Amino acid sequence: NQFKDLPLSRNTLYGLRDSEYVKPTEVQRESLCLSLRGLDVLGAAKTGSGKTLAFIIPILETLYLKKWVRADGVGALVITPTRELAYQIFETLRKVGRHHDFSAGLIIGGKDLHFEKHRMDSCNIIICTPGRLLQHMDENPLFSCDNLQILVLDEADRCLDMGFEQTMNSIIENLPLNRQTLLFSATQTKSVRDLARLSLKDPMYVSV
Ligand code: AMP
Repeated sequence: NQFKDLPLSRNTLYGLRDSEYVKPTEVQRESLCLSLRGLDVLGAAKTGSGKTLAFIIPILETLYLKKWVRADGVGALVITPTRELAYQIFETLRKVGRHHDFSAGLIIGGKDLHFEKHRMDSCNIIICTPGRLLQHMDENPLFSCDNLQILVLDEADRCLDMGFEQTMNSIIENLPLNRQTLLFSATQTKSVRDLARLSLKDPMYVSV
């Protein structure tokens, strides 16, 4: 029951080792055995449970197994409610993913739209807040998620509480259907279930 016992690439194991992650937390153990098989997962998990790695690891493994190269474009998208959370996810991704060769970018506003546009064109993994992502989808004709393999909806309940329901729906409707989706939420309200119905395919439930 250590990370090294899971079917992970050496690059990911080295990244976990460098960051001194040895043993998966409960949410990681329960969800990784499903997400690494390519299944959609609805995870009931709070901040502090270790859910960040529960989605960063499947992102790295999916792109690795597909032999993703920079020119393949956006392969993974993480939507999280706040800039602060986006930064934290980005930092964890940088550490754990440092032995992989994927490019990652933050799309969180606060920066010039033009600057972000250029960066998005060359990103394989995008960490974003909902409003800013939709703005790019609407305004940047070059931005494409047509190759998207894996979508993560992080802290979905908070996204909805912040009034992003319509934004999230519009984003999801614009994404390719042939993808894996992981949704994490601390609470399971009706609006979370509605979002889950719209975004997940035959999901497996993980509750810790
Ligand atoms: P999260 O819920 O993803 O925000 O993670 C909460 C905290 O747990 C962070 O400080 C992580 O660095 C830490 N953490 C996550 N997974 C593990 C693990 N498998 N072993 C030790 N610490 C962990």
